Amino acid sequence: MTEIFTGSFTQQEPIPQDGIDAAMAVLQHGRLHRYNVVEGELSETALLEQEFAAQMGAKYCLAVASGGYALATALRAVGVKPGDAVLTNAFTLAPVPGAIASMGATPVFVGVTEDLVIDLDDLETKLPQSKVLMLSHMRGHLCDMDRLIAMCDAAGVKVIEDCAHTMGAMWNGVPSGRQGIIGCYSTQTYKHVNSGEGGLFITDDEEIAARATILSGSYMLYERHLAAPGPEVFERVKYVTPNVSGRMDNLRAAILRPQLRDLEAQAIRWNQRYDTVEAGLHDTPGLTQITRPDKARPVGSSIQFLLLDWSAKAVQEVISRCAARGVELKWFGGAEPAGFTSRYDSWRYAASTAMPKSDRILAGIVDMRLPLTFNLEDCALIARIIRAEVGAVWQSGAACD
Ligand SMILES: *Cc1c(COP(=O)(O)O)cnc(C)c1O
Repeated sequence: MTEIFTGSFTQQEPIPQDGIDAAMAVLQHGRLHRYNVVEGELSETALLEQEFAAQMGAKYCLAVASGGYALATALRAVGVKPGDAVLTNAFTLAPVPGAIASMGATPVFVGVTEDLVIDLDDLETKLPQSKVLMLSHMRGHLCDMDRLIAMCDAAGVKVIEDCAHTMGAMWNGVPSGRQGIIGCYSTQTYKHVNSGEGGLFITDDEEIAARATILSGSYMLYERHLAAPGPEVFERVKYVTPNVSGRMDNLRAAILRPQLRDLEAQAIRWNQRYDTVEAGLHDTPGLTQITRPDKARPVGSSIQFLLLDWSAKAVQEVISRCAARGVELKWFGGAEPAGFTSRYDSWRYAASTAMPKSDRILAGIVDMRLPLTFNLEDCALIARIIRAEVGAVWQSGAACD
């Protein structure tokens, strides 16, 4: 009998009941705007910021409209100007180069390794080209952060972390997003907490925090923040920082607070799913698994493997055979951007130089979501299907056609 998987790869869990209750309370009082508070009231948004800062061990936190907005705000807050070069990963998603381009700045792409992290040797040669690295922990893979930070510090390059896929992850026991000068997170539906849209921004730098707060559209109401620097810091920046509205509202914040309290438990559940699929794919001929450094504790909300040096036709064959059995794989090597996936050379607004070593890896990356609505039996079944279909195409010899 041919096994078929019938689950949905895009179905997340419901919002926890205490999130629904908190959202109902906001709807009932009607004060959705974060600065719309009655005497003595602390807004859901301000409380979310206070709690997330404490959870991450950061001094300051700002809640915003999206992860992409957090990234663009980070660039503005560190002083990136139109025409500046900003280093970033070749293997990432469109909002990252998009945030850089939205500033009129120019992305300079850094290659990817077989472990799916930024190529630190390539980075080393490119560091002199820029003062800022927007580091994307794409699909939750953390590079050797000790080496990266040492290199960037030595070169005077500021690191902005894109933690859209590493909320809840750790490097050497420290939350991801705390190694760089700014950590940016997304609370969009497909990330680790779900408010539909939303983003979070953390830093220990008081001036960056004040600038980001004004940028986000705080008008002169910044004293209503609970995780922002004191008024004296705002005095220094308030006349020279434009308002680029992108605030979070109280409804989203209300939904997020209970989810953030569950983050560690959810990370463990995700990693059980990841480990189950990973174990099921061990030693599949033709398939290369991704190794991760011992110091990394990722959150396995998706899994990747490589079909390295396979022909495009054979990769496509694996993807369609798996799709026919209900397993939705995404391929990063496709010539045309599809769904959420695209390649650095499909972002044609940003000039790029070919990176043959990275191109070889990108051409082999196969990617799959692991929503928490899958149970461990689902994950084992998915792994059996992938294993069988990769094996069938591999044995037919089509992989090298
Ligand atoms: C989702 C995502 C973002 C931005 O998030 P939005 O909230 O959708 O703007 C940034 N980087 C990566 C890698 C992402 O996947």
